[in-house]
Amino acid sequence: MAVEIADPNLHAVQTVNLTIDGRPVTAHAGETILQAARRAGIDIPSLCYDERLEPSAACRLCLVSIDGRPPVVSCATPVSEGATVATETDEIVALRKVLLDLLLSDHKLDCLVCDRSGDCRLQELAYRYGVGETTYEGAARSYPVRDDNPFISFDPAKCILCGRCVGICQQVQQCNVLDFAERGFVSLISTSFGRSLLETDCELCGNCVSACPTGALFDKPSLHAGRTWDAHTVTTTCPFCGCGCQIELHVVDDRIVRVTAPMGVAPNEGNLCVKGRYGYSFVHHPDRLTQPLVRRPTADGGRGELVPASWDEALDLVARRLTELRDTYGPDALVGFSSARCTNEENYLFQKFMRAVVGTNNVDHCARLCHAPSVAGLAKSLGSGAMTNRFADFALADCLLVIGSNTTETHPIGALHIKRGLRRGAKLIVADPRRIDLAQRADLHLQLRPGTNVALLNGLMHVIIAEGLADETFIAERTEGYEAVREAVRAYTPELVEQITGVPAEDVRRAARLFGSAERAAIIYAMGITQHSHGTEHVLAISNLALLTGNLGREGVGVNPLRGQNNVQGSSDMGALPDVYPGYQKVADAAARAKMSAAWGAELPTTPGLPVTEAVNAMVAGTVKGLYVMGENPMLSDPDIGHVEEGLRNLEFLVVQDIFLSETAKLADVVLPAASFAEKDGTFTNTERKVQRVRAAVPSPGEARADWRILVDLARRLGAPWQYGEPGEILDEIARVTPSYGGISFARLDAEGGLCWPCPTADHPGTPILHQGSFTRGKGAFFPVLYQPPAEEVDEEYPLTLTTGRLLEQYHTGTMTRRVEGLNELVPTGFAELNPVDAARLGIVDGAEVTVATRRGTITTPAFVTERVAPGTVFVPFHFWESPANRLTNPVLDPDSKIPEFKVCACRVTAGGSA
Ligand code: SF4
Repeated sequence: MAVEIADPNLHAVQTVNLTIDGRPVTAHAGETILQAARRAGIDIPSLCYDERLEPSAACRLCLVSIDGRPPVVSCATPVSEGATVATETDEIVALRKVLLDLLLSDHKLDCLVCDRSGDCRLQELAYRYGVGETTYEGAARSYPVRDDNPFISFDPAKCILCGRCVGICQQVQQCNVLDFAERGFVSLISTSFGRSLLETDCELCGNCVSACPTGALFDKPSLHAGRTWDAHTVTTTCPFCGCGCQIELHVVDDRIVRVTAPMGVAPNEGNLCVKGRYGYSFVHHPDRLTQPLVRRPTADGGRGELVPASWDEALDLVARRLTELRDTYGPDALVGFSSARCTNEENYLFQKFMRAVVGTNNVDHCARLCHAPSVAGLAKSLGSGAMTNRFADFALADCLLVIGSNTTETHPIGALHIKRGLRRGAKLIVADPRRIDLAQRADLHLQLRPGTNVALLNGLMHVIIAEGLADETFIAERTEGYEAVREAVRAYTPELVEQITGVPAEDVRRAARLFGSAERAAIIYAMGITQHSHGTEHVLAISNLALLTGNLGREGVGVNPLRGQNNVQGSSDMGALPDVYPGYQKVADAAARAKMSAAWGAELPTTPGLPVTEAVNAMVAGTVKGLYVMGENPMLSDPDIGHVEEGLRNLEFLVVQDIFLSETAKLADVVLPAASFAEKDGTFTNTERKVQRVRAAVPSPGEARADWRILVDLARRLGAPWQYGEPGEILDEIARVTPSYGGISFARLDAEGGLCWPCPTADHPGTPILHQGSFTRGKGAFFPVLYQPPAEEVDEEYPLTLTTGRLLEQYHTGTMTRRVEGLNELVPTGFAELNPVDAARLGIVDGAEVTVATRRGTITTPAFVTERVAPGTVFVPFHFWESPANRLTNPVLDPDSKIPEFKVCACRVTAGGSA
């Protein structure tokens, strides 16, 4: 039977029929013989081939004979119609033995007993072809093992110079850290001038390790974790950023000893970032919560300490206090914060618990703090508040506008797709107040002042319209409201835009021409767009630009908000928001309410609840009395944390469910120990709207339980007849009540991999690209937006602009990554980035302690003097409890989405510490 080679990323490809080892194979035109054979399950040996790279034909082991002719390398020979290929003739086997003998000749090791057993493809082939030791005599190369960083070691003695690590570093990661050094016999893989990896631009992603066929490069943390065959692997989804990378947890004796990525599986296709590959040890950290804790008041009525308690005691106490507060003050005196780190099933149960069991719509989560404006703005203009396209589309674009997204640090695998686009020749425009990594790769870096996105975007549209680059056909056929936007942007001449943003007028023109003339242009953005007091308007301006240029509903285009946390998309989809049920069905819609009420068997509240940001104000005001937090840490993540602490301390009852005693949990009356991602089943939805499986790999420590089990126990104590045996049943219920998830089940995900919503029925293939043919709302709607300055501008007292953000090596409030030794070694503390001009004026030297002050508070942190920020701007990462950036940030809210203005406020920096 012919084997059909299918690649879902390729459309309308021509097929080629050939025979390999007597089997008929149908391949795509342009594929190599090696690719076609491997996909048909025929293993042609190779050491230098890596599906992520262009073929190098360095090892020559993949020899095949075509139509009886002399052997050729199959990794670099395209398939041809009617060819008859033999992969294992006597001649080819003999040649492979010679090649293996030569490869082993400078190893001078007994390959069959080498300590890299199990990680070495060379050893596998040595066994397969019976070549254990070299027959050649003479010198062998000898170099010391390089061990200069927390995660990656290199033993040059085992290296066969196949060049795969160099290829990954240069073609995929594009860091250009590794290369061949020296020439001839002494040639080796090295960094420039033999520097330590820490002294280079290496991101320690370990993708070079994943490419190494001999174990010369190896993951240090798993070095003493036993042989490969002692481990079993569990495929699951990375617990960190919204990219949703697929990972394999290698488990020995109930401990994760290594993380790898499956090849050829989107979105990461075998690649990971440093957190995904090496950030797993938090799962087994001794700080994990293993028992419930309850606060025992002191004899004199003081708050007392958190002490261990049984599950029954803790859950009974939570149920009793929630009931008392509800009965005394009404259900709206209670609030629940759900979690973007928990599974869809857990978020679904959490919002169902708050609505159907407690009786309030006061449920929200940290999407409020990152992409609430995307949900509000894109729903208004396009009909759906999510990313329109896939990561794979970044590689197909002719022009990429990255605005307000430090993609290489916050979404590293998303950035690899951007880099693939750059290798194809795509133009890159980066609009960011900082000279981030992508800015250095860009055709144009528009270094705008923080908070001036709308002026810049209107300026781009002004030029595009003035120079006739608007897509008039698309506008006429698929949009409405264009006239108002054309009128609104008329005033935004490049010269005016320069005055507002600081971006030279000529660069505004050049960017508009690049974007406006591209056949396929994609916009990628993140919190530099959304975290503003006019965040929703910033999103509408982005949408206007895409509509104006017809860049929606196709491959290689789109409006692409990158969601921050692993499951922030899913938490929103599940209705962990105060105004919508699962699938964004509005609580104010009587029909939707009646449907959910019937499904859940409960009367449901009629008015939308409080968002996170307003709930904190209500706690301070005393109208909210009780708070249930599942896996969030508002004491570090929310703006103006002095105000947050006041609110939390003002509560009559606080229960926190988490895996560690977070800054928020320390203030709780009851702490419930939860399972980590590696200890439970369920699903996460990544930023591409792709629902993917989460699978249990190890047991939870002590008495910790999966969040969904805790919720079921608690609901039953409050009288709800909940019966869920396992998370798959919860997903089945989600599918019944959520039209966009209607066709998604564990069975399908296990069989097919991820599915992008909308996926309304069991036979629907999912929707990787939204708005094809028509928009979710019918026509795409333009909304005119005028520039409005940030709520707080610089003045004499606070003369600098503070902006905040994330780092590659740390994640969110650091509860997980700061418990990973190697990650902490890479970035142990926070810092304040200052331009050298400002530093000199303020008498500050690099590394010295400085005090950063705003109208909300002060922090002390080391200065990092760098030209990455423009004069007048200060950047502080928000992961560090010792120097919490959110003690400084402005809680003023965007009126539409209620997101705070994390990205801009006025600050003062002084030499020396005082906080
Ligand atoms: Fe995990 Fe994000 Fe890194 Fe992928 S890019 S490995 S999802 S942290």
